[in-house]
Amino acid sequence: MYDKYSIANHNENCKGFKEIPAAFAKSRSNSPIAAEKEEYMKTCIYAERFLQNGNWRHNVTVHCENGKIAWIEEGGNPAAERSYAYLTPGLVDNHIHGGDGVSVFGSTVEEIETWLVKLAEAGTAGIMLAPSGQPERIRKGLANIKTVMERQKNGQAGGARILGAHLEGPFISAKRPGAMEAVIPPSVETFRMMTEGYVDVVKEMTIAPENEGAAEVIAYLREQGIRVQAGHTDCDYETALAAFANGVGSICHTFNAARPIHHREPGILAAALADPEIYCEMIGDLAHLHPGTLRLLRHCKGRERLMLVSDAVMTTHLPDGIYGRVEVKNGVNRVKELGCLSGGGCYTAKSVKNLTEIGFTFEEAVMAGAVNPARYLGLDLAPEPGKRVFLTGWNETYEPEAVLVDSDVYACR
Ligand SMILES: [Zn+2]
Repeated sequence: MYDKYSIANHNENCKGFKEIPAAFAKSRSNSPIAAEKEEYMKTCIYAERFLQNGNWRHNVTVHCENGKIAWIEEGGNPAAERSYAYLTPGLVDNHIHGGDGVSVFGSTVEEIETWLVKLAEAGTAGIMLAPSGQPERIRKGLANIKTVMERQKNGQAGGARILGAHLEGPFISAKRPGAMEAVIPPSVETFRMMTEGYVDVVKEMTIAPENEGAAEVIAYLREQGIRVQAGHTDCDYETALAAFANGVGSICHTFNAARPIHHREPGILAAALADPEIYCEMIGDLAHLHPGTLRLLRHCKGRERLMLVSDAVMTTHLPDGIYGRVEVKNGVNRVKELGCLSGGGCYTAKSVKNLTEIGFTFEEAVMAGAVNPARYLGLDLAPEPGKRVFLTGWNETYEPEAVLVDSDVYACR
């Protein structure tokens, strides 16, 4: 829990965690959230390898003050309180609906805030939280997102930071709904009605570009500065090219809930794989995509255009069992009556590790899990002096040890 987080715990869980000055430890105990943040006004991190501008720097010490990176020095420093085998930009999950029994539309603000701490403890630093379904449900999700974002900004809540809302649907294809429960014809009016009062938190929307009226919605969203992904789509090749020209910049969970590639009907997937500018989300739970498909994505998109997403849902991280219409078996979520996959089986840090086990380098996996989504979203999260602290510390075997975001530190479990 955020407010019960203890130094002792952190010390046990973080290898190489140096002794903490007594005054530092004492002032942390039993303090309310606002005061707890005070404790991290100054911290010093040693990294054996530090990923900066896409390159590894070796043996550096990162000094953080007031939630910002103050300066970075070569070599170790005896004042370092934390030490990691790898220090990288913080993981950003571009597509997540919930997890651990919590969902963006079905849970209270308090439940979401508790879950965001668990998510940080699982290695995720920032998220695009994704409401989906009928417009009323999307509105409920947007209301929660707006409230939590404001509370995080004011220091009243912590955990993985919500960076914005990603609407997945409801303007999707009736042929490719996957586990989505709502399919509505695209219209600017419906979008306005659905997001009224909350449009400032909407940063991204997934739609099927082939639907009648979609081109107008895409143009409208781009005018508002909202990123548009193609997804849950039966789009053909020519329509895909037109959509990319119209401002669609990425593909939602590539290969899942999309028209498959046929050699005479290549469709949107071939169009996206062959276009060096288009970003591709990929679910890295090894259930949604065969390792060979992930390797194909790596080959086609290189290290700059992949975005590792969890697509985690309410049942992600729950024990195997039946939860409403969803059955969880061996960590994989499926809609019982349809048999289709329903949301990702793990959070992003686990997917990073999965990728390293099927042939990606750790650097490529971190680019996909942290750097590329931040760039795609236009977020300035690069670890540079003067910038916001937004980091994940890892051990030698690519498991997250801590998430450091603004003035907070979360030990990973
Ligand atoms: Zn999703």
